[in-house]
Amino acid sequence: MKVAQISRPGGDFEVVEREIPKPNAGQVRIKVLACGVCHSDVFTKEGSWPGIQYPRIPGHEVAGLIDELGAGVSVWKKGQRVGVGWHGGHDNTCRECRRGDFRNCRNVTIPGISYDGGYQQYMVAPMEALVAIPENLSDAEAAPLMDAGITTYNALRHSGALPGDLVAVQGVGGLGHLGIQFGNKFGYNVAAIGRGPENAALAKKLGASTYIDSKSTNAAEALQKLGGAQAILATAPSSKAMSELIDGLGPNGKLIVVGAAFDPIEVTPVQLINGSRVIQGWAAGTPADTEDTLRFAVLSGVRPMIETYPLEKAGEAYDRMMSGKAEFRVVLTM
Ligand SMILES: [Zn+2]
Repeated sequence: MKVAQISRPGGDFEVVEREIPKPNAGQVRIKVLACGVCHSDVFTKEGSWPGIQYPRIPGHEVAGLIDELGAGVSVWKKGQRVGVGWHGGHDNTCRECRRGDFRNCRNVTIPGISYDGGYQQYMVAPMEALVAIPENLSDAEAAPLMDAGITTYNALRHSGALPGDLVAVQGVGGLGHLGIQFGNKFGYNVAAIGRGPENAALAKKLGASTYIDSKSTNAAEALQKLGGAQAILATAPSSKAMSELIDGLGPNGKLIVVGAAFDPIEVTPVQLINGSRVIQGWAAGTPADTEDTLRFAVLSGVRPMIETYPLEKAGEAYDRMMSGKAEFRVVLTM
């Protein structure tokens, strides 16, 4: 089979042949049909995730068909359409798992980081990571919902914002274009925040009632003019842009951080104390949360906008994603 791997931190994508892997007990093998290219693949490409080992095949937005079952797998069937997302497995034994908080498992695994992900024709995944894909979604549409989709959907539905509340989505990109759609379908008054005027019309088409160009406007002041945001979903991995938005929160407002950057967000205690504001990080969710996301997408018509590339062009696809010019999610098809 063909795989697109990274063999050392900072190395280029190499398309090579490998033996088709066999699933162990509790695992399945998936014939991969589509895999999203996510900004978080940078951790694998550049080696910035603690403890990552090489060679490694990136990819945590997988859609495909179960092709072989390992021992002890009974609830999944050969030929079933499934996906795997950021939540790539949990141990069922740590304190958080025993409390049922699988998302925060102490030993949570991530496809493409902890084990080989979806930039390959066949992939092995643990059964607790599997997500059933509804018929009405194509493989290429389902793939980005495995991370970008569930992350924005799950963060917003747990944001505390109620229908009619002002909710800002920072970044009109791979995550943001989904966040705007979900926010609109949840009944929020959605303000999309982008750098430059380019995406204004599109953001409104996706369901934003307001577009704020943070290059030409002070976005926090603009949000305050609208009454202050109950929630701000920060999707673009720019700590500086996030810091600038904190003053746009209304009383009890929450900045939800999903864009993964390593540099610090700057905030003063007084900014948080006035209005009892909250800053919260959010990681995707469990496979059951992802199934909720997919069902909601089918129900509401939310879909990712995608550009597809063949697996052989993984390097080109990754560069396109990193350029920030893709509209909006890059997906590899096998
Ligand atoms: Zn655990």
